[in-house]
Amino acid sequence: MISIDTPNEELLKKIRPGTRLNNVAYNIARIKAKSYSIGLPSPVMSANCTITAPVLKTLQELVCLVKALGIAELHLTDVTELSGLRVRYQSILHFREYSKEECSLAIAQAKAKGVELDVRVSIDKGLEESLEGTRKNWLQNGETRVCLDPWRLILVKPNGDIHTCCIDYPPIAHISDVSSIHDIFFSPANLRCKEELLSGRLHVACRKCARKAPGLPDELDFQVRSLLVQQGATTPA
Ligand code: SF4
Repeated sequence: MISIDTPNEELLKKIRPGTRLNNVAYNIARIKAKSYSIGLPSPVMSANCTITAPVLKTLQELVCLVKALGIAELHLTDVTELSGLRVRYQSILHFREYSKEECSLAIAQAKAKGVELDVRVSIDKGLEESLEGTRKNWLQNGETRVCLDPWRLILVKPNGDIHTCCIDYPPIAHISDVSSIHDIFFSPANLRCKEELLSGRLHVACRKCARKAPGLPDELDFQVRSLLVQQGATTPA
């Protein structure tokens, strides 16, 4: 998953300082070229747009950019607001410039553009709930976060820290300590993270996480098993 919030270079610099669209495009091409050079198909890539007020009106153009980059899916998410962290931009819940109807219309137009260009535009459950006004983030007794990231997401920071969470869970390994994807997903710290989620005995980062919906551990367990079947996993989670 590649984060691209807007096709507007100047706006992107403000939202994600240090990010350059031409670097993103070049790196996508490099990954594809490397795959072809070793006889593999291009990996399936998807793009993620975190919706903030300034990017709302650039969504249709973003779908076009995603198409031009050869990416088949654009996922739309709401801003994750973590307590104690000063965020530059706020969730759709607090937009002053736009009503929920205007937000829904911009998203519907992006989806229509996606249909026209054969780009799947999907919406995060949290974003959908924000738009519907039904979002709840607090955990009830016995609930966990329905989060599959520790089973499928790898994020490597420039300092070599490896995360299986894009929010606030601490690193689960370092690049110098692993030699395979298996080492990452089955590192002691990642196994601990999975166990916390499956049992509902959550790390503070997961308790506060606004990105993943609350749900019962059984629901997560079911989704994990389905994912493992999809992945063709032969070893337990
Ligand atoms: S903080 Fe926890 S619940 Fe949120 S995305 Fe990370 S691992 Fe998942």
